[in-house]
Amino acid sequence: MHAKGTIAVVGAGLSGAVIGRELAEDGYRIEVFDTRSHIAGNCHTERDTETGVMVHVYGPHIFHTDDAEVWDYVNRFETFLPYKNRVKTTSKGQVFSLPVNLHTINQFFGKTFRPDEAKAFIEEQSDKTIADPQTFEEQALRFVGKDLYEAFFKGYTQKQWGCSPTDLPASILKRLPVRFNYDDNYFFHKFQGMPENGYTDMIGRILDHPSIKVHLETRFNRDRNGEFDHVFYSGPLDGYFDYESGQLGYRTLDFERFTYEGDYQGCAVMNYGDVSVPYTRITEHKHFSPWEEHKGSVCYREFSRECGREDIPYYPIRLVKEKEQLAEYVARAEKEDAITFVGRLGTYRYLDMDVTIREAIDTARLYLAKAAEGATMPTFLHAPV
Ligand SMILES: Cc1cc2nc3c(=O)[nH]c(=O)nc-3n(C[C@H](O)[C@H](O)[C@H](O)COP(=O)(O)OP(=O)(O)OC[C@H]3O[C@@H](n4cnc5c(N)ncnc54)[C@H](O)[C@@H]3O)c2cc1C
Repeated sequence: MHAKGTIAVVGAGLSGAVIGRELAEDGYRIEVFDTRSHIAGNCHTERDTETGVMVHVYGPHIFHTDDAEVWDYVNRFETFLPYKNRVKTTSKGQVFSLPVNLHTINQFFGKTFRPDEAKAFIEEQSDKTIADPQTFEEQALRFVGKDLYEAFFKGYTQKQWGCSPTDLPASILKRLPVRFNYDDNYFFHKFQGMPENGYTDMIGRILDHPSIKVHLETRFNRDRNGEFDHVFYSGPLDGYFDYESGQLGYRTLDFERFTYEGDYQGCAVMNYGDVSVPYTRITEHKHFSPWEEHKGSVCYREFSRECGREDIPYYPIRLVKEKEQLAEYVARAEKEDAITFVGRLGTYRYLDMDVTIREAIDTARLYLAKAAEGATMPTFLHAPV
C-alpha cells in the first residue's frame, strides 16, 4: 500500500501541512510531529468561548498573494472571504492613515495637496545631504525627511527591533515608503482575503488525508531521523542542533489580551508610533472577520522584545552577528543525511504565508522528482545565508 516509504514532517504549520499533503497524495505515509497541542503553527486561530470572536492567537494573519496557484491551493481547502487590510496609527495625539499616503500627508502638514504637489513637497523635505544612506534612519531621512520619519517610522521601528534605527541597515527600507494617492490598502497583491472559519480549520483540511498521521505534543529529536526515509524539518535550525553554536537572534512578541463590550477601536490594527507608549500596536480581532457580528470584542496589546530560549521566536533579526552564526548552522546541516530544512524557522527567514506555501509545494515537487530519478534531495531549497 505504502510502497513509497514513510516520511517524517516536523511541524504542523503551513510548511509541514502542505509538504505532508503533497507527498501523501503521491502515495507516501506521512507522520507529522508538533510540540504544540494544536496544528497550524503560528497561523493558529481559535474561537474565543466568551465572545465568539475568531482570535489570531499568535498575532494577526492576513492572506495576500500574486501567486494564482497558491491562491487556488488555499481556496481548495477553505472559503476565502474578501478582506482589505487598512491600518491606522496614533501619533502625537492624532490618528492617521497608513501606509503614509496622500491623506496622511495632507492631514499631517495641514495641506490640500494633489499627488504632484505632494511629491514635490516630500522631495523638498528629504535630506539631500545624505548621499549614500547606510542606516535605516539615513534611508528614511533621505526618502521622507525628518518630520514624517519621526512621526511614522522612528518610534515604531525602535520598539519593534529594540534598537535605534541608526543601528539597523538601510536595506530594511528598500523603496520610498509613501503613496501619493488615497490608496490605504496595506498590501498591493492581486488576491487578498481571510479564511471563513480561520486558518486552523484550513490547515486541518490540508492535513485530513488517510495517509497522514498527526502527533501533537510530541517533540521530534534528530536521533529519530533513521526511522524515516526522509525528514522535512520546519522547526528552528539552531534548535535541531540543541543550540550548540548559540541561539540565533529573534524578536518575540508578548500579547496582553483584553476584552471590551462593543467596538474598542473601530479597526483591526491601530499602530502606536510614539516611544512613550510601550506597545507597538493594538489588534481588535473581530474586525479580521468583517462578515461576522459580535457584541463583545477581543483585543491584543502587542509588545516586542528580545527572544529568550523559552520564548516563541517571531521575527529573525539577521544582522551581521546572526549571519555568521547562521553560516555555522548551515554548514553543519549540509552534512546531515536525508533531511530538508524548510519554512520560516528551518531556514531562519521571515516568510509570508503565500511564500511559505509556494516553497512547500516546490519542495514536495522536487522531492518527488528526485525520488523518481533516484537522486539526493538537497538540505535546503532556499539558502538561508
Ligand atoms: C507576528 C506575525 C504576523 C504575521 N502575519 C502574517 C500575515 O499577515 N500574512 C502572512 O502572509 N504571513 C504572516 N506571517 C507569517 C506566517 O506566520 C508564516 O508564513 C507561517 O507561520 C510559516 O509557517 P511554518 O510552517 O513555516 O512555521 P510555523 O507556523 O512556525 O510552524 C512550525 C511548527 O513547528 C513546530 N516545531 C518546532 N520544533 C519542533 C520539534 N522539534 N518537534 C515538533 N514540532 C516542532 C512548532 O511548534 C510550530 O508549530 C506573520 C508572522 C508573524 C511572526
